[in-house]
Amino acid sequence: MTLNIENNIKKIEGIYPPPPTHMVGNGFKVHNFFPSGMHVTMDRMSPFFLMDYNSKITFPPSKIERGVGVHPHRGFETVTIAYHGKVEHHDSRGNHGIIGEGDVQWMTAGKGILHKEYHEKEFNEKGGLFQMVQLWVNLPSKDKMTTPKYQALEHKNMGKYVLPNDSGVVNIIAGEYNNVKGSAYTFSEINLFDVRLNEKAEIKLSFPEKFNTGILIIEGSVKVNGSEIAKVNNFVLFKNEGTDFVLEALEKSTILVLNGKPLNEPIATYGPFLMNTNQEIQQAIIDYNNGDFGYLED
Ligand code: MN
Repeated sequence: MTLNIENNIKKIEGIYPPPPTHMVGNGFKVHNFFPSGMHVTMDRMSPFFLMDYNSKITFPPSKIERGVGVHPHRGFETVTIAYHGKVEHHDSRGNHGIIGEGDVQWMTAGKGILHKEYHEKEFNEKGGLFQMVQLWVNLPSKDKMTTPKYQALEHKNMGKYVLPNDSGVVNIIAGEYNNVKGSAYTFSEINLFDVRLNEKAEIKLSFPEKFNTGILIIEGSVKVNGSEIAKVNNFVLFKNEGTDFVLEALEKSTILVLNGKPLNEPIATYGPFLMNTNQEIQQAIIDYNNGDFGYLED
């Protein structure tokens, strides 16, 4: 079976191996594909601004907490996708949650929030397989100062499209696939899919031409558009031409599909703040120092 896409093919811009890892706190060993990677500039995947990927590793049992302590954010959203292991979250708006395998946490920092992100207590004590993605989704200028918000998107409640011929399943985190909608509320147009394909299965994906599009191979390996091969932990960036592409799983595979309408707004960034102007960054620092982001115990 070969799905026909010859009319309006979306070609590959590049296939990129994972950059060297660095630690975020003592709990996340991540490849930063963007904005600090070599290949994808900070506006190339807009509205996605950052992608940190903790590829699959085993953490040994630990008696000390692992993670990132209390820190602020303003002007964007953090989206955490768990593939293996468990992460626990607390924030200054009183939200608390545990993200387990297949779950997603969508936190809108908006005008300002403090949070901390740790390996869940029992997982930390036992240790085990760990694999996560964290995305920073930029907010449109008009929504940067929105009220902070927290969406726990549990795997069991996620929109699902079962592919024909026992090919696999598309878990729709945000956006829409074949009329099945994702549960996340988003401020701009985004499609974010957790795609699970069985060996030899194919899937065709279609997105508006000018939307930014990339895929991260979480597990397995895929052939793209019948020719180039993307291996595990590779990121594939697509051109902003054409609409359709096909993935064929060379083995049982898990693929994160990112797609969104570019914001096309100026970016001013400093540490945990993501705004449009340097003046707004200065204001974020002042407001944070004033305690306007609330309080959260360490
Ligand atoms: Mn954070």
